[in-house]
Amino acid sequence: MSTPILLLNAGSSSIKYQVIDADDEAVLASGIIQRIGDESGTIDHTVDGQTHHQTRGFPNHGRALTVLTQMFDEFGPSLASVKAVGHRTVHGGAEFNSTTLIDDEMLEHLRKLSPLAPLHNPPAIAGIAAARRVLPDVPHVAIFDTAFFATLPPEAYTYAVPRELAAEHGIRKYGFHGTSHSYVSRKVADVLGKPYDSFNQIVCHLGNGASISAVDHGVAVEASMGLTPLAGLVMGTRSGDVDPGLHAFLARQVGMSIDDIDTTLNKKSGMLGLCGATDFRDINELVGDGDEAATLALAVYTHRLLSYIGSYIAILGGVEAITFTAGVGENNPLLRAAIAKRLAFLGVTLDDTVNDTRSKEPRVISTPESSIAILVVPTNEELAMARETKAAIGA
Ligand code: ADP
Repeated sequence: MSTPILLLNAGSSSIKYQVIDADDEAVLASGIIQRIGDESGTIDHTVDGQTHHQTRGFPNHGRALTVLTQMFDEFGPSLASVKAVGHRTVHGGAEFNSTTLIDDEMLEHLRKLSPLAPLHNPPAIAGIAAARRVLPDVPHVAIFDTAFFATLPPEAYTYAVPRELAAEHGIRKYGFHGTSHSYVSRKVADVLGKPYDSFNQIVCHLGNGASISAVDHGVAVEASMGLTPLAGLVMGTRSGDVDPGLHAFLARQVGMSIDDIDTTLNKKSGMLGLCGATDFRDINELVGDGDEAATLALAVYTHRLLSYIGSYIAILGGVEAITFTAGVGENNPLLRAAIAKRLAFLGVTLDDTVNDTRSKEPRVISTPESSIAILVVPTNEELAMARETKAAIGA
């Protein structure tokens, strides 16, 4: 038996994809289409360890999906065997709190949610529509980044703004990166050999986008991202938390438009705004060279992360595991060590050798004596999506 599933992650100018056999969880193909909307874009299609690169024009997501099917026809595997398509969808609003089969009506509801996730949902919807045209005979399902956080309690998701305004416009915290937080938190239970619902944990998903979650006996109770994926931690190009008064200040005192403010906070802030680099390999090098801006940027990043961890430990009333995942979390022993050192007052101790050893395996990096287990668990959002899709189609 095999259940190949095509997973699509459509952004505004790119589509990442994988085909995973949901039975043995093998990756059968993967690839990325870049610069959709430009005259000249690229597609890199990897199958059997070989990457096939082509330059093509992708005026829109529809054309990109057509070329994607041509790559599968030419280099395999055959898309005819695909049993379902899973679409990463950033914002499910309050309406979609679990993986959902897509039909016309559902897609219409999703379109109506777009103002809630202006950066992310429109491309995902364009990707869904295009994929349904090129693969009309298989079920398509939407996997929501917000779904894992549908369990947040009202005191965590409610903003202190007028109730009527919030109710009318769906203004509340939603939380994002849920697919990763769900996958990683379950993996932590496996690694520790404990039932998922038997302990409290914190997961730090630190990639270009970054977020942190608190999971109380298997139930997500806090998340750092909010109404949009801009809130919370310092990210590659996103500010994370700022004084909400900053928006009015920038508009009134600096004369910036709402669009300028939005672009500045989403695309020109974070580590990029602080030190001109987003990649932690570059940032670590700059810090090593004594660069002041990069040193401060890293200190701000670490301070914000630590303040969330402290807050979530208090909300959970204690924690048994804190886990680092995604590009920055998985690859930065110095950052992990800096956080662990600040938690030493709670009895946290790292095994420096394990922390410094590069590995793709999930692992505990604290000592056996540590009061809280510290882990590194590589995230795998595509695999989590494949499992979700398989379950949704009842395969
Ligand atoms: P996203 O999925 O949000 O685009 P990733 O989880 O892939 O992001 O994380 C990408 C980031 O991970 C890079 O920008 C970089 O900062 C960091 N990163 C990746 N590899 C390394 C490494 N070897 N050393 C330090 N940082 C790394």
